[in-house]
Amino acid sequence: MSDPSTQLIHHPYTSPAGFEAVAPGVHKASTVIFPSVAALRNRDWKHKTGYTYGLHGTPTTFTLEERIATLEGGKFCTLVPSGLAAVVLVDMALLKSGDEVLIPDNAYGPSKAFAQAELAAWDISFQFYDAMNPADLAAKLNRKTRLVWLEAPGSITLEFPDLPALVAVVKANNQSDKMAHPLGTVTALDNTWGAGLAFNAFWLGADISVQALTKYPSGGADVLMGSVVTNDEVLHHLVHLCHMRVGYGVSGNDAELVLRGLNSMALRYAAQDAATQQLAVWLQAQPQIAAVLHPALPGSPGHDTWKRDCTGAACLLSAVFKPEFTQERIDRFCDSLQLFKLGYSWAGPMSLCVPYDVPAMRRTPWSHRGGLVRFSIGLESVADLRADLAQALLIA
Ligand SMILES: *Cc1c(COP(=O)(O)O)cnc(C)c1O
Repeated sequence: MSDPSTQLIHHPYTSPAGFEAVAPGVHKASTVIFPSVAALRNRDWKHKTGYTYGLHGTPTTFTLEERIATLEGGKFCTLVPSGLAAVVLVDMALLKSGDEVLIPDNAYGPSKAFAQAELAAWDISFQFYDAMNPADLAAKLNRKTRLVWLEAPGSITLEFPDLPALVAVVKANNQSDKMAHPLGTVTALDNTWGAGLAFNAFWLGADISVQALTKYPSGGADVLMGSVVTNDEVLHHLVHLCHMRVGYGVSGNDAELVLRGLNSMALRYAAQDAATQQLAVWLQAQPQIAAVLHPALPGSPGHDTWKRDCTGAACLLSAVFKPEFTQERIDRFCDSLQLFKLGYSWAGPMSLCVPYDVPAMRRTPWSHRGGLVRFSIGLESVADLRADLAQALLIA
């Protein structure tokens, strides 16, 4: 039983005796009652051998943690209140003052902003590296580097990096005699796009995989949650201790929504993947469009690496307009769309779009001159979405 679509449904969850329902129970608690003072003193929240307080887990959140770990092919999972909180938790668990973190220049914007605004104020330095150039990562690694973030593909511009090559650079540095830190430099992947379905983060070498469960695992555009998964007990313990200290709990109702979403996740991923690839090919042929960025399209940056490492692609594509389309015209295009709504996030049922100013977000050179619109393809009919894009392109 190796296929995730089966694993996500047939999971070794044990239901209460005599109540063999398909769905797990929804437990909600702040207080958990102990039978005696001795039990209160002895119960261990660190190893999930018992329940101590709602913030540290309930049967419902433990069940979701097990399923997300299974989805990612990892051993340990910690849930947090958003995808961004998962990134922040890893940063806070691993970085101390005087350390440095390396982040891809094309990473999820708020992950970069956390380093720039908060970590820097705690005397934790950061550098942005070009994820499409392992030599740039090698040049930026130094004795202060404790953590290297990876993201596949890049946010908005969707370049697919060579993750094994980037991990190899970090591992080689860890083996050199310059490495004094007992943990070496840790690699953490923002795996929201792959979602545990397009590739296995741990086979490609990451030490930690984080996801915004807000996206595919939920699938409903109605819940915010994040996860941190690892196979490494020492790393898990560090993350878990930090999690407990910062008070990042998730609610039973939110966990229930994600558990429900997991049942249909593999199907949704495949359907949205197929629809996105069809629309990407169609958009590429439109006279207003200079380039379509999607890792499955030959010529899109990192296409060969995507082909080597992935079995699918998520529901994101970006279109770069020809330079004669001013920002005003691109904005008019976005405003003219009827089915595609303007809004952040992705992997929900409704198709979305957002125009971005890429040069303002990046330090690494950007080869296109035209403006970019990032689309998230939902679960509507492909023909209807195509017709919507066509009418708005005529207005632009
Ligand atoms: C959405 C997203 C996040 C943040 O998730 P939230 O739950 O919205 O905080 C992090 N990384 C990536 C790649 C994302 O797409």
